[in-house]
Amino acid sequence: TELPADSNEINVPRQVHKACYSYVLPKKPSNPSLIHASTEVANAISLSQEDLFSADFLNTFSGSTVYSGTKPYALNYAGHQFGNWAGQLGDGRAINLTEVVHENKTLTLQLKGAGPTPYSRTADGFAVLRSSIREHLCAEAMHYLGVPTTRSLSLMLSGDQVLRDVMYNGNPAYEKGAIVCRVAPSFIRFGSFELFASRQDHVNLKLLTDFTIKHHFPHIKKEGVEKYLAFFQEVTQTTLNMIVHWQRVGFVHGVMNTDNMSIHGITIDYGPYGWLEDYNSTWTPNTTDSQHKRYRFGNQPEIALWNLYQLANSLYPLIEDAKPLEAILDTFSIDYEKEYLNMMQNKLGLQIKKEQDAVLIQSLTQLLEKVETDMTIFFRNLSNVTKNNTTITAFNSIKEAFYNEKDLDETILKGWYDWLEKYSIRINEEAISDFVRKKQMDKVNPKYVLRNYMAQLCIDDADKGDYSLLNELFEMLKNPYDEQPNSQKWFAKRPDWARDKVGCSM
Ligand code: AMP
Ligand code: MG
Ligand code: MG
Repeated sequence: TELPADSNEINVPRQVHKACYSYVLPKKPSNPSLIHASTEVANAISLSQEDLFSADFLNTFSGSTVYSGTKPYALNYAGHQFGNWAGQLGDGRAINLTEVVHENKTLTLQLKGAGPTPYSRTADGFAVLRSSIREHLCAEAMHYLGVPTTRSLSLMLSGDQVLRDVMYNGNPAYEKGAIVCRVAPSFIRFGSFELFASRQDHVNLKLLTDFTIKHHFPHIKKEGVEKYLAFFQEVTQTTLNMIVHWQRVGFVHGVMNTDNMSIHGITIDYGPYGWLEDYNSTWTPNTTDSQHKRYRFGNQPEIALWNLYQLANSLYPLIEDAKPLEAILDTFSIDYEKEYLNMMQNKLGLQIKKEQDAVLIQSLTQLLEKVETDMTIFFRNLSNVTKNNTTITAFNSIKEAFYNEKDLDETILKGWYDWLEKYSIRINEEAISDFVRKKQMDKVNPKYVLRNYMAQLCIDDADKGDYSLLNELFEMLKNPYDEQPNSQKWFAKRPDWARDKVGCSM
């Protein structure tokens, strides 16, 4: 169908039935400007460095003009939010521009914050600069850490003001509006399937599932029930893999609602996410979840499984047999334990895999929780421990990770000495040299992550129109495992002022 000239006619919030998506038009920004673009993502969709500074690029990825031959649309989906059924949600501030095929892979280009859609409900469809910076920086940082994720092509200012909060003095607080262009194979979520299952619209449930498999899982050659089971199995596996990576780097998503779970097992929706500074399995960056802490670091694997149950329920009408679905779900916890152990062995530089390593790892994570210990610094510095180190020398290697030396009372110290002694025995059983072990450990224990306060500093500067820190962090985070002597100041514990400073979601 043809789009009406004025997009306002079609983006009235409503329940959209029997449709996976609605055609929409981005809202024309009043004065768009490019803040930053990722050259690598541009290259991945065949755009050159020069293209980034063209009028076409500015117009297309700010939503100013619709690229010729494309028909932007917003996806319809539902979801469980914080464990409760939320009904229809949909892309309330995301607009898919088009799909491109590059090297046989389909990539979808999506604007976030380009105005309202039929799914905006009571919100405005826009995004503010601070949340857009957080998404742009973090999505790319995650990619370079080797964590499956949506990518971010560009970050633009719209030139418009967005009302986000009402200040305590009763005055409206306007912020700069921004638009990010996200890139992913697709933006289909667990909630996409839940939508049709909840409405018992099995015709569209089947259409969506067949479409998803045909276009995004073409290697699944089976038919009928077997095809759907193979699809569910693969989503289970890729989701598990993503969570293991999150636990490896200390990433806490913060809003693992089923509408924020990609069917591709990639990290999606950088809202109130955060990075563990002191290792704390009960930490969540999401202030709206501070009571139950449903989405805390240590609960991410459990929640992924809970979400997979919701996906299984949604696919059930196509399969009509709970047993094989349950069998796949049952393997999740066993497989997770295995993959987690393997990941932690790698973080410790243990190449020979021993069953008893699980005990060594468990006693380590218990110790890490006892007093504030910086996760990134601890694991990075652990690679400096050598086979012939005394316990004291080994301790000195990791000492920098403790936030307060005065926390290190006799019991805590004894705990660490005991653990380091066991670790020393264990690395002496390894055939690889200290040098090789360090090299391998440094490939899985990042030196630089996007600490919450770093993003905040960058936002404060950007708000004043200074993007130099944004550029600096973006470049540094491209090589998170490398030693970067000029960036040594970012390999440091969170400063005191940044304690309990969390992210933002809207
Ligand atoms: P989230 O918690 O970010 O996953 O968002 C949940 C739902 O709210 C999704 O349907 C979003 O599209 C929608 N949403 C979030 N922020 C906005 C906004 N500023 N305008 C319109 N819809 C929004
Ligand atoms: Mg979302
Ligand atoms: Mg969000």
